[in-house]
Amino acid sequence: MSYTGPEFDSPTPRRSRRRVMTVAVAALVPGALLGWAVYEAVGGTGGSGGGRAEAKAPATSRPSPSSAEPSRTTPSSDGDKPAPAPSGGDTLKGKVVVIDPGHNPHNFEHPAEINSKVDIGTGKKECDTTGTATNAGYTEAEFTLDVARRLRAVLQDQGATVKLTQNGDRTYGPCIDERARIGNEAKADAVVSIHADGSGLGNRGFHVILPASVHAGAADTRPIVAPSRELGERIAGSFVRVTGSAPSNYVGGGTGLVTRQDLGGLNLSTVPKVFIECGNMRDSKDAALLISGAWRQKAAQGISEGIVSFLRG
Ligand code: ZN
Repeated sequence: MSYTGPEFDSPTPRRSRRRVMTVAVAALVPGALLGWAVYEAVGGTGGSGGGRAEAKAPATSRPSPSSAEPSRTTPSSDGDKPAPAPSGGDTLKGKVVVIDPGHNPHNFEHPAEINSKVDIGTGKKECDTTGTATNAGYTEAEFTLDVARRLRAVLQDQGATVKLTQNGDRTYGPCIDERARIGNEAKADAVVSIHADGSGLGNRGFHVILPASVHAGAADTRPIVAPSRELGERIAGSFVRVTGSAPSNYVGGGTGLVTRQDLGGLNLSTVPKVFIECGNMRDSKDAALLISGAWRQKAAQGISEGIVSFLRG
């Protein structure tokens, strides 16, 4: 498929661009591993990493009500329906994937409920948050639901059993502890929580959030740290390759990987799970991608290829 989003208009012939992309992908994997090694060496599973990434937490990225009315008209590209993926047969038959579309378009209408605290093992945290939005009012909740549906279609086409934690059919939430529980009870082989970030102008690119090793209260991520890292690295690699987006230029040291211990959806998971922040909704260049249905299809495809790679081992 060809795409002509603003980031992909290039005077260079397609063949040479692909060669560059291959180099970029090849560079990412060792980079990610190196970044991870350095991160661990400096105690990254503790407060330093979590603290650095704290400012980018979904809980802190609520849009102002005026810029994020859920009833606002969405960009025309949002009407694009998920494109049918090439049939992949039944290569994922027997595999269970849970997709967690971050936030909920109706969270704005239920502040008391979503601000109630739930136990995430390491402490208490809000049930859920509204998420962020582009400056023009395209909400993160709309984005995550759209990408999740596209991703579900791609994975189902390959025979996977796919469950969404919410499908725009709930009045709010689910709360983050329930989001984790849905993956656990499904005995999912992989869970991916879809998000887009709300950071500053000029902060660009995607990052995958991996669970830190946490053992506190109801949280015990120790068994899932390694497989979740594997899942996250594969998704990061395929996301670069398929979307052409670069890893975040503001967290993760260029690896596209960030480890956090403050997310209930990760802390309470007993199955391999990662979050992906697909881009920064508050940056105009990233936002131009995020509002594009064609780009969201590529995002779903990139995420799916990482999941497939992980599930095939
Ligand atoms: Zn989010």
